[in-house]
Amino acid sequence: MKPIAQRIANAVYQNGPARILCFACLAAQQRMKEHDLRAVALVLMVRADLRVVRRVCSSCRRAGEVLIAQKVA
Ligand SMILES: [Zn+2]
Repeated sequence: MKPIAQRIANAVYQNGPARILCFACLAAQQRMKEHDLRAVALVLMVRADLRVVRRVCSSCRRAGEVLIAQKVA
């Protein structure tokens, strides 16, 4: 896995179920573009047991797509 993908996976696990961030907020947290984050998310869904679901973001409170760890779903 690329370092960027590993970094995002770590961030999702560290944020945990109490801090589920939408793509926009996660991208801001990781200081990257949302477009790039979505590309990485596709890799993580295959390689790191993460998945994309619709949730309310813990930060901006908007309902949207979030990247979460499979086990907290
Ligand atoms: Zn958000």
